Amino acid sequence: MARLVVATGNPGKLKEMQAYLTGLDLELVLKPAELDIEETGETFAENACLKASQVAKAVGEWAIADDSGLAVDALNGAPGLYSARYGNSDSDRIERLLSELGDTQNRRAQFVCVVAIARPDGSIALQTEGICPGEILHAPRGTGGFGYDPIFYVPEQQMTFAEMSPQTKHAISHRGLAFQQLLPKLSQSGKDFFEQYEQ
Ligand code: IMP
Repeated sequence: MARLVVATGNPGKLKEMQAYLTGLDLELVLKPAELDIEETGETFAENACLKASQVAKAVGEWAIADDSGLAVDALNGAPGLYSARYGNSDSDRIERLLSELGDTQNRRAQFVCVVAIARPDGSIALQTEGICPGEILHAPRGTGGFGYDPIFYVPEQQMTFAEMSPQTKHAISHRGLAFQQLLPKLSQSGKDFFEQYEQ
């Protein structure tokens, strides 16, 4: 079974990736705890690639990383790369975002997720992006999910991310879409998993 090192120290993220990649002949393992990667990129793609690349090089194995966040149109794309650092807790971050938006009429926003897979030499073999458009509500709705889910409303579903079943969120979310694009690329090869992407 091919091994893929996940560029995160977070076992929750490993489990989530395992769920998206179910059915593939892949063993996902956490990166070594002592290996710290700084997210110095200026885009989600740069950050996903630099995390995958640096972990792959450090351990000498194939590695996968994702980077994601929420971009609000009326805030010029904020919180964007700073989505995780926009406040000290999920509720702080939501409160800050709602107060910065105030009564602004333009509530358009999108969640973005980029997934990257790097070869053991650090070069990028695969990269996919998922985008989920939606609107920021004036107040939170729903109890599921995490992060900004209760204020992110998806018009086609007439629900916030926090009101959706995990299955629905997986099917339509930025992260779900990025992994859906990755799956056929990973499962093309019959025998050796990464053979087709070797340089
Ligand atoms: P990271 O890609 O794990 O660093 O996530 C970046 C941040 O974006 C998270 O800490 C959340 O604040 C936010 N975020 C990313 N994806 C989601 C989502 O599906 N729902 C809610 N918040 C999200």
